[in-house]
Amino acid sequence: MVYSDTIVAMATAPGKGAIAVIRISGTDAIDIAHKCFQPKKSKDIRKQKSHTIHLGHIISEGRVLDEVLVSIFKGPNSYTGENVVEISCHGSPYIQQQILQLFMSSGCRMAAPGEFTLRAFLNGKMDLSQAEAVADLIASDSKASHEVAIQQMRGGFSHEIQKLREELLNFASLIELELDFSQEDVEFADRTQFSELLTRISDVLKRLIDSFALGNVIKNGIPIAIVGKPNVGKSTLLNALLNEERAIVSNIPGTTRDTVEDQITIEGINFRFIDTAGIRETRDEVEQIGIERTFDKIEKAKLVLFLFDGIEIDLSELKKINEKFPEKEVLPICNKVDLLTKDQKFELQNRVTDLIFLSAKEKVGVAELEQKLTSLVVSGGLDGDGTIVTNSRHYQALVRALEEIQKVKEGMDLGISSDLMAIDIRQALFHLGEITGSVTTDDLLGNIFSNFCIGK
Ligand code: GDP
Repeated sequence: MVYSDTIVAMATAPGKGAIAVIRISGTDAIDIAHKCFQPKKSKDIRKQKSHTIHLGHIISEGRVLDEVLVSIFKGPNSYTGENVVEISCHGSPYIQQQILQLFMSSGCRMAAPGEFTLRAFLNGKMDLSQAEAVADLIASDSKASHEVAIQQMRGGFSHEIQKLREELLNFASLIELELDFSQEDVEFADRTQFSELLTRISDVLKRLIDSFALGNVIKNGIPIAIVGKPNVGKSTLLNALLNEERAIVSNIPGTTRDTVEDQITIEGINFRFIDTAGIRETRDEVEQIGIERTFDKIEKAKLVLFLFDGIEIDLSELKKINEKFPEKEVLPICNKVDLLTKDQKFELQNRVTDLIFLSAKEKVGVAELEQKLTSLVVSGGLDGDGTIVTNSRHYQALVRALEEIQKVKEGMDLGISSDLMAIDIRQALFHLGEITGSVTTDDLLGNIFSNFCIGK
């Protein structure tokens, strides 16, 4: 798939702004820009060096459209690897449209979504997972999701996968060579070394597969269920968390009227707080449905905040949650501590292990709670070796590659013939290659890049 045409698109968001950037890429990018652009100092932009900026006018049918800055990047030293021109014009939607149209009538084609990055990939400027990270980077809305995207864009785990894949490829060729000498019973591939390599590959794959759960959670927000009877202070606590951070709040209406989600960013980590209806015993059918839903939310939550009133103490629900979800991390929180005496506090502390005291109203203990929440994420691996898979396509390819590697391992233990082993190795190579883009299909590329915005 080699592109010969020159594409154009807005690189900045649609609408009015101080400045807008129009991007052109392709063999003829600089020649086409030359036709539409009149530099202030009469110079020929085709003869200018790469990575230079030029002031001048965009001229359409003899009329000045705008005063602009034109940046020139000559291939292969550009984002796409092709000749690239970026025009910084004034941000009026009218000017933007006029310039776009001018370039289209001068020989450019409107770019498809993600086509600039697709070209960068096809020209070897980045591998596939790096290209995908560009989309994640643009979409990142918190410190944590940004860090994951940046790390991946700079190579991330794809370098590691690439290296292991090359080693495996080496063995594959040795084993396939054995097939040519099948009469002679020779082994070119050292089975001990091969077995070691397979173990190394599976370890890496397993680690990456495990990181997906955390990665996904970071990308979409860590779900936290708040459970507590009416009036214990759940809304007050949410408000306290919101005020503390002055975060952007999105009220995502739950699928039902009894669950509401608030997204709050604490220390750059997104949390999704899910306010639930309690789980008190009931015969009422409607309430019973609400309770089932609460259980469902608890099931899906990474952490449960169990909130109770320090004056009207009722811990029956806490007991029930612990029984039903023995593996779940539940933080017991006693609210309205401002109303408690020292003795009452002391007594409660002895009754409930790891109890957190809070006054949502007086904002006492809120900062400590926040710290507890963020440390939970960090200890969960965020500050580990930092390799986190967030992309479900990578995840699926990793899982499939691991399956194939395990098949090879089992086959080797059973002493299967080289020809059968070679087939499984080829499969594993294929799935590993899918991640970095060493093997691609048009369908796969179409799928990935169509999710990009136009102009990227
Ligand atoms: P929810 O039904 O669990 O969401 O409870 P609310 O947040 O609506 O709070 C119920 C009542 O308890 C309100 O009148 C709050 O002002 C009060 N309240 C909440 N937190 C505290 C607290 O820490 N101390 C005191 N004294 N009152 C509180």
